[in-house]
Amino acid sequence: MIEILEKLSETFSKRQSPPLVFLHSFGCRQNVSDGESTVGLLVKAGCGVTDTPDNADIIIYNTCAVRENAEKHVYGVLGELTHIKERNPDVIIGVCGCMVKQKHVAEFIKKTYRHVDFLFGNNAETLPDILLEILDKRTFMMNINEPDIIPEREFIQRKSKIFADVPIMYGCNNFCTYCIVPYVRGRERSRSPHDIIEEIKALSKDNIKEIMLLGQNANSYSSDNVDFAELLLKINDIDGDFRVRFMSPHPKDMGSDVLQAIAQSEKICKHIHLPLQSGSNRILEAMNRRYTKEKFLETADKARSLMPGLSISTDIIVGFPNETAEDFEDTLDVVKTIGFTNIFTFIYSKRSGTKAAEIIDLTPKDEKTARMTRLLSLQNEISTKIMADFVGKTVKVLIEEQKDGILFGKSEHSIGVKTPGDPGEVGTFKDVKITGAKRSELYGEIVNS
Ligand code: SF4
Repeated sequence: MIEILEKLSETFSKRQSPPLVFLHSFGCRQNVSDGESTVGLLVKAGCGVTDTPDNADIIIYNTCAVRENAEKHVYGVLGELTHIKERNPDVIIGVCGCMVKQKHVAEFIKKTYRHVDFLFGNNAETLPDILLEILDKRTFMMNINEPDIIPEREFIQRKSKIFADVPIMYGCNNFCTYCIVPYVRGRERSRSPHDIIEEIKALSKDNIKEIMLLGQNANSYSSDNVDFAELLLKINDIDGDFRVRFMSPHPKDMGSDVLQAIAQSEKICKHIHLPLQSGSNRILEAMNRRYTKEKFLETADKARSLMPGLSISTDIIVGFPNETAEDFEDTLDVVKTIGFTNIFTFIYSKRSGTKAAEIIDLTPKDEKTARMTRLLSLQNEISTKIMADFVGKTVKVLIEEQKDGILFGKSEHSIGVKTPGDPGEVGTFKDVKITGAKRSELYGEIVNS
C-alpha cells in the first residue's frame, strides 16, 4: 500500500502544482467516514483538497444505496459534471460507495456517463492503483468486487476539530428484508479493540470532544474476545475530556450487559438511537428484524430503569409492503408508550435485490403519505412535551459553533441548545440552565464558564 502511494506521489510531483481533490459523500456516517479515508490517502500521496468540483483535478462522489431518491440525485449530479469535463478534459472523475457496488448500477453509469473515469466500492485502498492506471493509460477503470476487509486507518482527513467518527465494525449479517446494506457492504467484521482504543487515545490527545462509534450493527461488535459492552467500558477508561456516542445498535442485540455498560460509563452519552422500524409484530417478522414489539418495549423500559432521564430516538419505516391500518396503529402505540425524543421517518423505498422488493404491495401511496402525516403530528406533540420538561433543568452542552453572539451545541441527549456566548467557547463543554423550549431546540444561559 505504502509503495503504491509513493508511486502515486511521484507521479503527482511531476506536475506544476499538486492536484486538488474534491470528494462529496452522500448518505450515512459510515459513508462520510469512508470518504475521510479516501481523501486522507490522496493527501498522503501529495494532493491538496478543495471544497468545490469547479477547480478540482480529481472529483469523487461517494454514493449511498439505501434510498431510491439518493440514487436519482447522484445521477443528476453526474449529468452536471459533463460541463466540467468539457472545460477541462484532464479532470479525473470517479464514483464510489454502496450505489456502484450494485453491478447493474455500475454498468449503467459506465454506459451513460462517459465522462466518468473510474468506479470503486467502499474500499479506499483500491484507489491509488486505479489512479495510477488512469494517469498512465487514460482508460476507464472499475473495481467493485472488493473482498470484505477491515480497512487500515492510517491516513484520515477529518474536517472537524471537535467531532470524530471511529468505525468499530463493518458490514452486516442481519439481512433485514428491506435493506441493501449486507449485499453491498458484506458480512460483519470487527476491528481489533487495540486499534480502536489507540485511535481514540490519539483523538483524545488531539482534543477531540465527541467520538461517534460506527457500525452497521454496532452492538454486535466482537473481536479478540471483547464484545460491545466490554469495548464501551474500555473506551470509558481512556483519559481525556470527551464524550462518546454510537450508531446504529440493533434492538435484538441490546442486552442487559450493554445497557449496564452505558449506565456505568460516564463518557457514554445517555442517549440511545434504537431503530424500531415498525411496532407491528407481523411487519417486524416480514422485515426479518428478529424482535417483537413487546421485546422492544421491554428493552426501552430496562434502559430507562437503569438510566433515568435517558433519551431514546428511533427510525421508523412507514408503509412497508402491505402494512395495514392495524399494523400502523401498533407503531403509533409504541411511539406513544416510549416517548422518543426524536424520530427519523421514511416512507418505504423499494430496493431491487432485496427480499421485500419481491412483495406485491397493495397499500396505496396516498394511504402511506397520510400515515406519515399522522405519525409526524403525534411525534410533534411528544417532542414538544419532552422539550418543555427540560425547562428549569441544567444540561451539559458541547458547543459547536457561534453566530451573531449565539452559541449552538448539543446536550448529551442529542438535543440542540442555544445560549448567548463568545466564539472562544466553541469546542468546550458548558453547563446550560434551560429557560425556554421549542419543539426541536432548547434555550438557556451558561451557568459555568
Ligand atoms: S441491521 Fe438491518 S437495516 Fe441495519 S444495516 Fe443490517 S440489514 Fe440493514
